[in-house]
Amino acid sequence: MIKDYKPTLQQFGPSWARRSIHLLLGGIAAFALTMGMVNQRLHRDQDAWEENESWLSSPLDLPLTESYLEDDMDNLETPAVSKSKILNNKKIQLVKVLKGDSLSKIFYRLGLSAKSLDAVMSLGDETQKLRNLSPGKTLRFSLTAEGQLLGLSYDIGPGNSVEVWQENNVFRLKHKLAPIQQQISYSSGDIQNSLFISGKRAGLNYNLIQQMVDIFGWDIDFALDIQPNDSYHLIFEEKYQGGAKIGSGNILAVEFNNHGKTYRAVRYTDKNGQAGYFSPDGFGMHKAFLRTPVNFSRISSHFGNRRHPILHRLRQHKGVDYAAPQGTPVKATGDGIVTFVGTKGGYGKSIELRHGNKYSTFYAHLSRFSKAIQPGTRVKQGEIIGAVGHTGLASGDHLHYEFRIDGVHHNPLTVALPRSMPIQGLNRKDFVAHADKMMSLLEQRKNTKIAANAHPVKKAVSHEP
Ligand SMILES: [Zn+2]
Repeated sequence: MIKDYKPTLQQFGPSWARRSIHLLLGGIAAFALTMGMVNQRLHRDQDAWEENESWLSSPLDLPLTESYLEDDMDNLETPAVSKSKILNNKKIQLVKVLKGDSLSKIFYRLGLSAKSLDAVMSLGDETQKLRNLSPGKTLRFSLTAEGQLLGLSYDIGPGNSVEVWQENNVFRLKHKLAPIQQQISYSSGDIQNSLFISGKRAGLNYNLIQQMVDIFGWDIDFALDIQPNDSYHLIFEEKYQGGAKIGSGNILAVEFNNHGKTYRAVRYTDKNGQAGYFSPDGFGMHKAFLRTPVNFSRISSHFGNRRHPILHRLRQHKGVDYAAPQGTPVKATGDGIVTFVGTKGGYGKSIELRHGNKYSTFYAHLSRFSKAIQPGTRVKQGEIIGAVGHTGLASGDHLHYEFRIDGVHHNPLTVALPRSMPIQGLNRKDFVAHADKMMSLLEQRKNTKIAANAHPVKKAVSHEP
């Protein structure tokens, strides 16, 4: 980024002039070939910019799209820095920003006056964008036949440009941003070992992959439960600006096949504007309990019979051990009340939570408790209650976690977690209609993809090696 625009005249000598003439001649030849397309493109761009009438009446009458400039410049053997064309008695000059470039250097190269530079740079805050030119981006100048500045545009990105033009001999400047448009896209993938690797191959960004983890995180432990040949299909929002993809929005409907079991979810916004993910039959994907109380852990000991690593006696392991570094946050797996916090024999620093009348959870070998955790404190699902440690009889840093129903220990990994309340009342009918629509859209896209993949030439679904 070049911050200063003040002219540094001594840097340019005759060699630059020779080079630019050479490039100019080569440039005109290549440029002439593309000019026939300009009018057509102009119409298309005018459509895209139709909310911006001022652009149409500005003296710059070449389209703004960077792609057209890029195509044109990339066709040259030597990287083009400058080229021009006379159009309607005006000279249109394209300049690619070089490393170390500034607007003052470019003005100097084009033989434009310091006065016109000052006139442009005094047009207010938005000139900041012209003080920070990025190498590789393009500036387009509109000049009189004698080479006087009429206007310029700086293409920052798709649908994002700074425009300078003249009105009654006064320069005007505007930062133009095309509106963001949303469309529904489809993607799918097979997993060999990691959802993140597979998702990247399927063209999903981190945000979408994380959404998938959040939606199914109550049913599937993405660190531990993923099996080779698991697969997923989803439709989601994609955002476009000036014809280019700029990001993603929400997942709208998604199917995940995990170890032979199919999970489906649809996004629904109720009449109060509350959005969430629901199974097609109207149950919230978010269950009363998280499956796992620690992120980024691995299971170091399962539920059931085992030889105790320190006591060396065969005994029931009444919970699951999650190995994780000391200090890793431990989360309450469900909304509840703290019934015990303190040291409990071999369990060391421990917390017990009660969730309604039936359920309780227990967290042991903690290194510390969160400040707010006192007997009687209410905790929310996902709230951090303490940190992993190895207090009590523990061979290393890990969390010992128990899940009890009516006082009886159950395997936290396999216990059927209670479902949340289904959508009811006024929203029910609306939800069913919406869910049907989205699930059939997903199904339709999926079948189109499968049909396309059956064709041996084209294979678009992602696969890991
Ligand atoms: Zn344990």
